[in-house]
Amino acid sequence: MASYQTTKKPPLSRVKVRPNLTGYERTRKTFRFTDVYKELDWLPDGGLNKAHECIDRHANGASANKPAMIWEGKNGEQERYTFADMKRETGKFANVLRGLGVGRGDRVFTFLDRIPEHYFAVFGILKAGAIAGPLFSAFGPDPVRDRLLDSGAKVLVTSPELRGRIAHIFKDLPELKHVIIVNKLGRDKTPIAPTDLRYEELMAKASAEFKTDNTSMFDYSIMHYTSGTTGKPKGAVHRHMAIVQQYITGKWVLDLHPDDIYWCTADPGWVTGTSYGMLAPWSNGVTQLIYEGGIRASTWYELVQRHKVTVWYTAPTAVRMLMRSGTRVTSQYDLSSLRYINSVGEPLNPEAIVWGLEAFKQAIHDNWWQTETGAILIANYAFQEVRHGSMGRPLPGIEAAILDRSYNPLPPGQQGYLAIRPGWPSMFHTYWNNADMYNSKFKKGWYITGDEARVDEDGFFWFVGRADDVINTAGHLVGPFEVESALIEHPAVAEAGVIGKPDPIAMEVVKAFVALKDGYEPTDRLRQELLRFAREKLSAGVAPREIDFVKSLPKTRSSKIMRRLLKARELGLPEGDTSTLEEE
Ligand code: ATP
Ligand code: MG
Repeated sequence: MASYQTTKKPPLSRVKVRPNLTGYERTRKTFRFTDVYKELDWLPDGGLNKAHECIDRHANGASANKPAMIWEGKNGEQERYTFADMKRETGKFANVLRGLGVGRGDRVFTFLDRIPEHYFAVFGILKAGAIAGPLFSAFGPDPVRDRLLDSGAKVLVTSPELRGRIAHIFKDLPELKHVIIVNKLGRDKTPIAPTDLRYEELMAKASAEFKTDNTSMFDYSIMHYTSGTTGKPKGAVHRHMAIVQQYITGKWVLDLHPDDIYWCTADPGWVTGTSYGMLAPWSNGVTQLIYEGGIRASTWYELVQRHKVTVWYTAPTAVRMLMRSGTRVTSQYDLSSLRYINSVGEPLNPEAIVWGLEAFKQAIHDNWWQTETGAILIANYAFQEVRHGSMGRPLPGIEAAILDRSYNPLPPGQQGYLAIRPGWPSMFHTYWNNADMYNSKFKKGWYITGDEARVDEDGFFWFVGRADDVINTAGHLVGPFEVESALIEHPAVAEAGVIGKPDPIAMEVVKAFVALKDGYEPTDRLRQELLRFAREKLSAGVAPREIDFVKSLPKTRSSKIMRRLLKARELGLPEGDTSTLEEE
């Protein structure tokens, strides 16, 4: 395929990190995950439990009085919890669950906003040996019912308002035995059902002393439904042993240090919000900021400034949203505390990195992983140069490859299926109730990720697109990402989504949907200019043949562009599963 590089390379002197390729190679040769297991605490009876590694381990030691969570509510409320506080609250909630007959392997789901009780509940569930299933609080009734039904959840923890939103689904859920209602600060006046249990009352009666269930490293801990970008969401199930990889990636990829103030903007309803909004920072004993509210550039900058956030983990959509508001807003805040920024979830357009250099005076480090992988597998590291548009290199201990259509490895430079050698600690163990789908992901000894990529001579991986989204135009295989990245380099373009449109001659032609920045009008002249702009950056065969202007692009609730929906709409086909579609 045509190779695409941003034309706006930043001067290297502005990239803070120094390349250190030999150290990486050395570590890759000698590293074993089994060595990292020695850094974990383990349970007194020999088991492994994520809640113990994240909470009790620190609460029982020198960090007991260190803040674990700094919380800001959507109305400006502030609360702080030390690791000792977290131990107490999670112990109480584990006792509450025990009292309700919850035990090893039971599914307990949470449908809550980003409030402290959500975090207490998840770790209480883990302490009780049950499986936690956090749901995104913006879901409507259907996605919640589907997930509770599929998982056979026994308990749901929610709030009066969210309960009201899904009131009619309870009759369809015979396995759901209890609903626990958290009424944060008593601020919610929505009535609840007489059979519902009140969190505050249960917690007031519960003992804080709880002996964490002696789960083995192989026991299930958390399940997450995937984002639904390519089809119906699947319930990926993870084990307690995933903590070893969440811990080490927190250290090596997020570069967490004991005195950091870390902020992960993802919601616990998505895997980033648990693996990196709970497990990685707290297994490293780091203080994290949790913000209940949504995305707004000025609020976000204010939070960074007020709490002196040092490490930030966010997503390309959020970065593009910040870009939309421009560097003028950024320059009004003191963001000098920020020393390291990471991004995941979608390809990070080179333009976004260039913007980050201007706005934050540092490169945004992209990394790649999936709900199924449980933790970061490919990353740009603090010690190495950032190759703009690359996802980086495999974590030591991880073997990644590019395979051809028969699942055999391809040499560097060629595009194919991105695959990982199975057996990494945070690998999902199954899709709940869907073993066939799970088994279909493994071919010739590889886990097939469903993404296409290529690798360069130095081992850096370059994302091309989801296998389903790759466009075949006149014999070229075109990844939507390179076309979208070229388009958003134009000053008028805020976001772009690219699909292949069937064509009798070329098989497919490239079609782009473009959302404009404020202040730009969708005129025919601009359309022509963009077509020309893209042709100049990409070869004529790869550049879009058609451009449609749209107000916004359809996205999953985890903020991923749903190209399959753009395509279905373009072709007048059924939209398929839209349970995770963000309101448009
Ligand atoms: P579904 O599997 O239900 O279709 P999904 O794949 O979007 O949804 P997730 O597990 O949340 O669900 O997302 C993982 C996917 O996100 C990856 O397979 C990849 O396509 C994309 N992704 C994640 N990080 C990156 C990245 N750094 N660069 C490019 N793509 C990424
Ligand atoms: Mg997927």
